Formats: sequence, structure tokens, C-alpha cells
Amino acid sequence: MKPYEQRWIDLRGFTTDEEFAYLKEQGLAFDPVDMKHDEAVQKCFEYVKQCKKSHVTDLFLSSFTSERLDCRSGFAPFAIMQTMPDHGFTTSSAPGYCAICSAAAVYANMDATDWNVNRYKHGSIWLLKVPYVIQFHLAQHLQLARQKPTADDFRIFNAILDTLRSVEPKTKPKDLHKELKKIEGFKASNDQCRVLVEALGIAGILETDEHKGYLTHFTNPGLAPSKSHSSDWAYPVDFWTGADGVNNKALAFWFGAYPDIRL
Ligand SMILES: [Zn+2]
Repeated sequence: MKPYEQRWIDLRGFTTDEEFAYLKEQGLAFDPVDMKHDEAVQKCFEYVKQCKKSHVTDLFLSSFTSERLDCRSGFAPFAIMQTMPDHGFTTSSAPGYCAICSAAAVYANMDATDWNVNRYKHGSIWLLKVPYVIQFHLAQHLQLARQKPTADDFRIFNAILDTLRSVEPKTKPKDLHKELKKIEGFKASNDQCRVLVEALGIAGILETDEHKGYLTHFTNPGLAPSKSHSSDWAYPVDFWTGADGVNNKALAFWFGAYPDIRL
């Protein structure tokens, strides 16, 4: 078990006040705060303006060999911001929730520590994809040092793309872990693989003709359709099958600047 995983497990049940203070000092744990919808949206736009695409993609790629999943985590939130409308809280039929993004009007006692656990443990945004969470991920991303991908990072990502392009047409997202884990050097648990695949969907690389990623279409994450009643995969990869392949246009948008990546 890696040291940071141990720390998180401790944090979630056995952390003393001194330990929690230490984690806070290290920027790993946070005191709960109150935030309003419009402030969260404003922060999303403020932070995304400061993010450089090359910083996001460099860290995403370098995460394959560095195993720094927090470095992979900025990609999906940054991708959602490509089309999120700049908006104020808009009343909906669900009282207290925004019609555009599904975020609550006010988030009292917002505890970002759990979201940070997702950054380190899973490498992406998790179930909740509202501005409160997105602004947190972007703020954390901005604090990460630049790191260039290595030849091995490119090899692993190319192998992931090759697999996604060549799986059986009926392959569903849940079937991908057993295919992707055959790639030498790609170390990912089922959950880590799942959020990676979901992030590629959010970025538009794994989408369908009908269900587009956030590179070109903003879909209210709270109202996004599901493929089936029991599916809890993120939109739009939930609808993806092997027959849809890889969207090369989106791939070129994100990774076209890297001659080592096979578009
Ligand atoms: Zn909203």
C-alpha cells in the first residue's frame, strides 16, 4: 500500500486532531466551508482561465508512470469547463437546485477533503460533477508542478488508445478494465480504470453520435440520461460501446500537440 493511501484510510476514521492539523498544513485536508452557487461558478471560470491545456495534458499523461493520480485529476474538470455556460443560479423544478448545472443554491459545510481523496485514490472527479467540485479540482490542479510525460507514458497511452480502437464492437465500458490491464505498466484498479474511461468520455474522446462529451456539448450532469436504470457510469461513456471507437477529432484537440501520440 502506498503511503498516501494509508494516510487517507487513517483520515477517515482514526485521525487525531494533531494528524488532521498536519494534513491540513500539507494541503491534503480541509475545514468545511459554506459556499454559494454563483461563487462556485465564478471560481470555476477564474481557475480555468489560469489553467494551461498543456499543463493539464502533460500531467494527465505523466500520471501513467508516476502513478500520481492527483496529476491525472485535472483533466475531466478542465474538459467540463470547455462548454459549461457562465451562469447564475437558475431556478428549476427541483427547489434549491440549479436548472443548468444541478448544483445546490448553497453548499453548507462543504467538505472538500473527500473530493481530495478522489483525486489521490481514483485520479478524477467522482460522482458529483457540479461547480463546487469542479472549482476545487481546478484550484488543486493549479498548485501542481509541471511534469513532462516520458516515452513510457506515451507508450502506455498509445496502447490504451489501440485497445479502445480494437475491442469488439459490443464491448461496454465495464468490460474495458480486463482489456486495459493487459497493457504493460498500466497499473489501475477497477475504480481507477473506470474514472479514467469516464474522463475520456467527458473529454469527448469516448462518445457516441447521439451522446457527446463536454468538449462540444454541455449536458447538465444531474439530468444526463443513463443507458439503463441500473447503470451508474458517467455521461456520456455510459452509452459508449466498442463500435463507437475513439473520436479522433477530440483526441487531436487534447493530444495533437504530442508527436508521440498516434492520432
Ligand atoms: Zn448552475
